[in-house]
Amino acid sequence: MRRLSCWNMYKKMRKINIPIFVSHQGCPHQCSFCNQKTITGSGDAVTPHQVRKAIEAALETAPRAPVQTEVAFFGGSFTAIDAKLQEALLGAAKPFLDSGAVHGIRLSTRPDCIDDVVVERLLRYGVTSVELGVQSSDAEVITMNKRGHTFEDVKGAFSLLRAAGFEVGLQMMLGLYGSTREKDIQTARDIAALKPDTTRIYPTVVLEGSPLCDLYRKGEYVPLTLEQAVDIAAAAYTIFKENGVRVLRMGLMASDTLSDGCVAGPQHPAFGELVLSRLYLYKMRRALEGKNGGEFTFYVHPSQVSQALGNKKENKTRIFREQGVNIRVKPHETVESGEILW
Ligand code: SF4
Repeated sequence: MRRLSCWNMYKKMRKINIPIFVSHQGCPHQCSFCNQKTITGSGDAVTPHQVRKAIEAALETAPRAPVQTEVAFFGGSFTAIDAKLQEALLGAAKPFLDSGAVHGIRLSTRPDCIDDVVVERLLRYGVTSVELGVQSSDAEVITMNKRGHTFEDVKGAFSLLRAAGFEVGLQMMLGLYGSTREKDIQTARDIAALKPDTTRIYPTVVLEGSPLCDLYRKGEYVPLTLEQAVDIAAAAYTIFKENGVRVLRMGLMASDTLSDGCVAGPQHPAFGELVLSRLYLYKMRRALEGKNGGEFTFYVHPSQVSQALGNKKENKTRIFREQGVNIRVKPHETVESGEILW
């Protein structure tokens, strides 16, 4: 059997996040694509009491088996909110960290809201992981989407966080206003060059109430199709894989609130699966180069037969349409996740 190298590191080890959504409060900006109220389902400020209750409730139902449990402050720019509130929220989570009930505290924020004072605060409260919203490395795209920071800010914040010993994640978006496939792929390259620990790849969707929604309704912004977004995400994923950057997520969470607020764009509840399937398609095409007609059998990890065949067997159908080859995909215990043998 022949093999193409493994790139599937998207499947992660057993981890549980206890999500605490911090709304738009304190963020001094209004990015084109952002409607935090839509994403978090609430514009109200979260309180330390709610943090404690959310952690206690999650721990009560957490599986007994060994898992890595983390409190995750997501949904806003955590270090942009009032310093006293940051301390109160982190202070509500820290006792669970100190007692060993949870194993880490992670949060997301803006690159220009990290400095020495912030870093010292995050260290003091035991924060283990910080994710920065990079979104694009292209100066024009950053400006057009009113991010209010530069890629230099990303590099500066990344250095500070790295030097302090945090796990650092850099998130990117595909298909922003003014972006192109090339600019998105360059962003993936620029992020990978910094060697962050993790990344998340989010396709841009149009949220009701966001400035992007106005541009969309005026015909000035055309979102990516699902097909385009999957293709670009597959290229970005490959760049991250080749550079040892763990991809934590591809695609937005399909919460009901998001579905209600999503006006247009490549939103799909299994976006990540579509991307991984697409990577199988590309590999199969490479393996079948020059072939026309007949049958061909590929072997994959037993858990990934349907992923290799594609959503509604799309990969099988495409290859038959393109080359007349009838592919079969079979499980094989010796094939590692993401590998393909034939
Ligand atoms: S920085 Fe984050 S919270 Fe603030 S407007 Fe932009 S996306 Fe929304």
